[in-house]
Amino acid sequence: MLERTYLIKPSLDDTLPMIDYGKGIYLYDMEGKKYLDGASGAVTANIGHGVTEIIEAMQEQAKKISFVYRSQFTSEAAEKLAEKISALTPADLNWCFFVNSGSEAVETAMKMAIQYWQEKGIHTKTKVLSRWVSYHGITLGALSLSGHTGRRARFVPLLEDFPVMNPPYCYRCPYNLEAPSCGYLCAQELEQAIKRIGANHIAAFIAEPVIGAAGGAIAPPKDYFKTIKKICEANDILFIADEVMTGFGRTGSMLAMEQYGVIPDIVALGKGMGAGYAPIAAALASEKVIEPILAGTKVVMSGHTLSANPQSCAVSLAVLEYLEKNKIVSEVESKGDYLKNRLLKLKNDYSFIGDVRGKGLLLGIEFVEDATTKTPFSREALVTQKMISFAKEKGLLVYPAGAGIDGVNGDSIIISPPLTITKDELDDLLTLLKATFDAFTMELKSGGV
Ligand code: PMP
Repeated sequence: MLERTYLIKPSLDDTLPMIDYGKGIYLYDMEGKKYLDGASGAVTANIGHGVTEIIEAMQEQAKKISFVYRSQFTSEAAEKLAEKISALTPADLNWCFFVNSGSEAVETAMKMAIQYWQEKGIHTKTKVLSRWVSYHGITLGALSLSGHTGRRARFVPLLEDFPVMNPPYCYRCPYNLEAPSCGYLCAQELEQAIKRIGANHIAAFIAEPVIGAAGGAIAPPKDYFKTIKKICEANDILFIADEVMTGFGRTGSMLAMEQYGVIPDIVALGKGMGAGYAPIAAALASEKVIEPILAGTKVVMSGHTLSANPQSCAVSLAVLEYLEKNKIVSEVESKGDYLKNRLLKLKNDYSFIGDVRGKGLLLGIEFVEDATTKTPFSREALVTQKMISFAKEKGLLVYPAGAGIDGVNGDSIIISPPLTITKDELDDLLTLLKATFDAFTMELKSGGV
């Protein structure tokens, strides 16, 4: 036990277990307690912990050079990584700008979009529209895009009002309709927002393919993004996919957007890119976006001291090679289906499971007080927090996600284990989850909720 802490934790008085080491999908604290990493940390440790190949790649790079400044040198690691990402992603998404976090990737994506229009001589297109029930990052630009009431609240006067439309939240459809007969009215809202604001002021629209932190893995119906893209194209607005959480195989393809049959103009990447072994993220741009910049100032106005540092790039390259060599992404869909079907079955046993959703190995469970009326639990009941702590007690780590009803109400968790998880380990995860739900049932019965 520490006498005092000098470290600012998520809550200043948190007493968190001290991590010792990780191996595969398991983490071990200093007291020897074992945890199944059921959410890959924050949907990040996509290939699990302690992978020898990555550790070796880190050492090899560190022996040569860990840091050079991007305006003084390029490096083999950075060049190869950019080339690999360009090859693994669809169409002409060929240009990579490396940064250190998902928030920075989103900031760079925004800036690229605005600059694209400026370099074409159009200086009024500076807004980037987004949706409510979304999370794009904690820096002020990315937070301006984030439709997440709780995270915005303290900084509202500093933020732009970029979220303009409802999310594709089929479980609680604002129109009380069902896809596809709904005609994707929630996507059509973009058209209305553009008319009100004026396309001449809008540089881009940004969306997460599957809404993660703000919504608990809300995956839109099949043609939703085609409708969005069509509206963007008709109005000369770039489409940015925030694939920070979904990219690099999490949903069963390199980009989740591939499964929606839509090619974005710009993509924000992060999390799984370094798989937690090093901080690295990227903004990826198509030839179309870079063309006017290349013909103009040639300088993409973004960048950080550690952008494209060889150490992080070597890690990310090793992670991508590991994914390819072990054919990990091609198995995500079947593993995800297996897990999702079992989670759906749990709905019969636990009355508080309202919805099971998501794509690939990015799955969410929404909890409700009454599954028939979909009534959420009261805020005071702290259901998400209770689920997280019961799970942790049992040795299972899951990720809290708002359910996004109105930015305040709603409880959900994300289940997103490392993509390398085996079928037996998926069964272990389900056993621990059931034990968690049993503990919650006891709490409900005892009147603790
Ligand atoms: N975009 C999305 C979709 C995310 O899920 C996150 C992180 N949860 C971010 C951006 C921000 O990434 P970071 O925390 O690495 O800044």
